[in-house]
Amino acid sequence: MGLMISLTEARALIWERLSPLPPQMAMLADVYGRVLREDVYAPEDIPAFDRSAMDGYALIAEDNSPRLRITGEIQPGAAPVFKIERGECARIFTGAPLPEGATQVLMQEDARVEDGFMTRLQASRIGHIRYRGEDARRGDLLLSSGTRLGQGELALLAGMGITKPTVSPPIRIVHFVTGNEIIEPSHTPLPGQIRDSNSTLVAAFARRHQGEIVHQERVSDDLDMLLTRVRAGLDDCDLLLISGGASVGDYDFGKKILIALGFEVHFEKVNIRPGKPLIFATRGQQAAFVLPGNPVSHFVTLQVEVRHAMERFAGAEASWPEFKAKLTESFTRGVSTRETFWPARLSTENGELVVRALRWKSSGDVTGMAGANALLHLTNELEPPRTGDRVPTLLVDTL
Ligand code: AMP
Ligand code: MG
Repeated sequence: MGLMISLTEARALIWERLSPLPPQMAMLADVYGRVLREDVYAPEDIPAFDRSAMDGYALIAEDNSPRLRITGEIQPGAAPVFKIERGECARIFTGAPLPEGATQVLMQEDARVEDGFMTRLQASRIGHIRYRGEDARRGDLLLSSGTRLGQGELALLAGMGITKPTVSPPIRIVHFVTGNEIIEPSHTPLPGQIRDSNSTLVAAFARRHQGEIVHQERVSDDLDMLLTRVRAGLDDCDLLLISGGASVGDYDFGKKILIALGFEVHFEKVNIRPGKPLIFATRGQQAAFVLPGNPVSHFVTLQVEVRHAMERFAGAEASWPEFKAKLTESFTRGVSTRETFWPARLSTENGELVVRALRWKSSGDVTGMAGANALLHLTNELEPPRTGDRVPTLLVDTL
C-alpha cells in the first residue's frame, strides 16, 4: 500500500525531482523575501567619491598652522570646485565630497571659529574620511545568485541603482480542500461538520514562502467532481496542493486524481509523526502534494516537506533552521518509533533560546498549533526530554 520512506529520503526526492522556476525581473519594491537569481557586481566604486564622515572642517592633516582660513563650504550633494592649500580649510558636512588637497576632516566639536578662521581645540589624527572604493571596488561581487533578499540586500540593490533585479518568480499554487464535512469558516457547522482551517493555514504559509495562491477551493469527496475541478485549476500553476484524501480510506482520492491527471507519484508515506500520509508527485515541471487533512499534520508537512519544494522552485539553497533550545518544562508524548515534530513555542529567556512544547491531543487539534513558531524534532523516543534538556528545535516562523 505504497512505500514508506524516511523524511531525509523524501526531501532528497523532492529536491531531485524539481528544478528552479525560470527567473524574472521584478521591481525592487516587490522582491522582499524572493531569491536573487543573478550575481550582482558593484557597478562603481563604493563609496563613489571620498567623502566626509563628520560635520566639521576639511584640512590638510600635516598643516600645523595655528589658524586656518575658512575658504568655503561644501554641502552634501555639491561638487567641490576649490582646492585646499596650506593655511586653509573648508566647512564641510557629513556625506559631502572632500575638496581636493584635504586629507582630514576635523570634527566641529574640536574646532573654534572666529573672524573667518578656524582654530583646532585639540589635535586629532582621525581622518573622518570615507574613501572612494573602501567598501567595494567596481566589479566586486556583492551578492550571489541564490541569495534570499532580506532588508539589507534590498537596501544594497537600491544603493547600486539595481531597481529591477532578476529574481525567483512567485510560486503559483492551486489548492483544493477535500471533505464532505468541511465548511466555510464563517458558517455555523451542522452536526458532523468541521470548519475549514487548512485553507487559511495554506494561504499564510504561501504568503510567508513567496507563494501566490492563484486558486483555492473546497470540493466534496466526489472523484468525478474533484477531477474536473483540479484539472481546470492545473493549467497555470507550479504547485498543486490537495488537503485531505492522502490516506487509504474509501474517500481518499488524492492518488487516483494525480494519476488520472498524468502525474508520476514518487512517494505516498513518510515515516514522521504527525503527517505520515503524504503524497508527492510531479508532472513535467509541476509538483503536487496531497496532504493529510488533520490541521497539525498539515502544519508539519507544510514546514518539513512542502517548504522544501518552495525553496527548490525559488532557486534557493535548501534550509533547515534547526538548533538546540532549552526545554522549559517536560511533557508527555505518546510512544512512537517515528521521527516526531512537535508544535512548540520558541522564545528567549535571559538571553538564551528556550522552547516550550505545546499541548495537543491529536493531530486534529487546532488549538495545538496556535502559538507554534517551531517544531521540536524528536528522534530518540526512548528518552523523553526533560526540563532543562537541550532539544533540537526547527524554527518555522518568527521568534
Ligand atoms: P483526511 O485527511 O481527509 O482523512 O482528514 C483527516 C481529518 O482532518 C478529518 O477529521 C477531517 O475532518 C480533518 N480535516 C480535513 N480537512 C480539514 C480542513 N480543511 N480543516 C480542518 N480540518 C480538516
Ligand atoms: Mg477527508
